[in-house]
Amino acid sequence: MRRGTGGPVYVESAANPQLIAQAMVESANSMGIPRFESPNGEMMEGHGGAAINDLIIRNGRRSSIFRSYVYPLLNQPNLSVLTHTIVSKLIFDGRSVIGVEVIQDGRRNQYYASEEIILSLGAINTPKVLLQSGIGPEEELRRHGIPVVQHLPGVGQNHQDHVSFGCIFEYHEPQKISNGGSEATLYWTSDPNLKQPDMFHCQVEFPVPSSDTAYFGVPAHGWTMFAGLAHPKSRGTVRLSGPDVNDPVLIDANTLLHPDDLKAAFTNIELCRDLGNSTVFEKLVKREALPGKLGRSEMENFARNAAVTYWHQSCTAKMGQDSMSVVDGNLKVYGINKLRVADASIMPEITSGNTMAPCVVIGERAADILKKAHRITSCQVVEVAG
Ligand SMILES: Cc1cc2nc3c(=O)[nH]c(=O)nc-3n(C[C@H](O)[C@H](O)[C@H](O)COP(=O)(O)OP(=O)(O)OC[C@H]3O[C@@H](n4cnc5c(N)ncnc54)[C@H](O)[C@@H]3O)c2cc1C
Repeated sequence: MRRGTGGPVYVESAANPQLIAQAMVESANSMGIPRFESPNGEMMEGHGGAAINDLIIRNGRRSSIFRSYVYPLLNQPNLSVLTHTIVSKLIFDGRSVIGVEVIQDGRRNQYYASEEIILSLGAINTPKVLLQSGIGPEEELRRHGIPVVQHLPGVGQNHQDHVSFGCIFEYHEPQKISNGGSEATLYWTSDPNLKQPDMFHCQVEFPVPSSDTAYFGVPAHGWTMFAGLAHPKSRGTVRLSGPDVNDPVLIDANTLLHPDDLKAAFTNIELCRDLGNSTVFEKLVKREALPGKLGRSEMENFARNAAVTYWHQSCTAKMGQDSMSVVDGNLKVYGINKLRVADASIMPEITSGNTMAPCVVIGERAADILKKAHRITSCQVVEVAG
């Protein structure tokens, strides 16, 4: 059995999914894409399939990872959660990190750690704090006048994200939206020789053009298929614009830079068009609004204009053993003592699907590593029934 019970996060299949979500799974099935009970596990580990979404909604109320893991422990005496507090820099004693400098109510404060520091600021801000603290590519640090503590050329490199292209279909009549408006997912493999799905489609129950496709005309009522690349080959960067905490980072996603990603975009959009134009949708759908049948260069324009992020930024401080790796198998930053990273930035390669659950797994693994390293034998485990 793949689905566990009794853990801190309550997950269930979307309750009473809308007709459009059911039609998507049925339409995929009519094209030979198998139907699964859950989009997780088996479906994305094999050649793919279609399924009604798993959601962290219970009794009609959406939860969050903070609610599941941290909130129940807020009264614990050894836990402090500081809001409106921005970590600006790491504090070093030689090559060991001994604390963090923060901006709190407009003032700089320091917090010191008796054991170690774990950065968990996400794939954009973890490299920012590492870089502004002097850990990163020597040349970039020197350019901003930041003293180099450790030359690590991989910090801020290898940026990865799922990119998707919104294909929109117009309804005959307005339809209801439920469970946040996304209730069905499809993964598929364009080439049976691939080991994992390269296509990752997420259905949304309302029209979502990009800022550059909106002017083609968007129906008032319709649904969108975010036809996405599960494993894009383009790699981006997160770099500094300056040494100060208020200097924004420069994010170059380099979306569709790799020629294979453009080819994959065409394959994805065509699958999406075939799916959405299938007779299964006849009772609900009046017409395909975007992109419609286009020639090669028009389709390339559409793909480039429609390309949007799935908000799955990751891989900017990757785990590994090569010269571009930032953390080792125990999440420790190379060349520095008492510093680990535990968030989406440590992924060497983006996962096939949504990144929230994998980030929870990274957090769980980090907890196991810390318990072992500090010989913590007992800790409170909060469980929810289910
Ligand atoms: C709009 C949107 C929609 C998404 N939808 C989905 C979805 O449907 N399914 C899914 O699986 N994934 C989804 N994701 C992706 C998912 O949320 C992320 O992959 C995941 O949260 C990344 O986890 P993380 O721990 O790496 O970073 P985060 O969750 O971003 O956590 C980093 C934390 O650090 C804090 N922080 C950052 N910098 C500092 C600093 N300097 N000082 C102090 N605190 C700081 C941030 O406020 C944040 O709380 C979505 C993301 C976005 C933005």
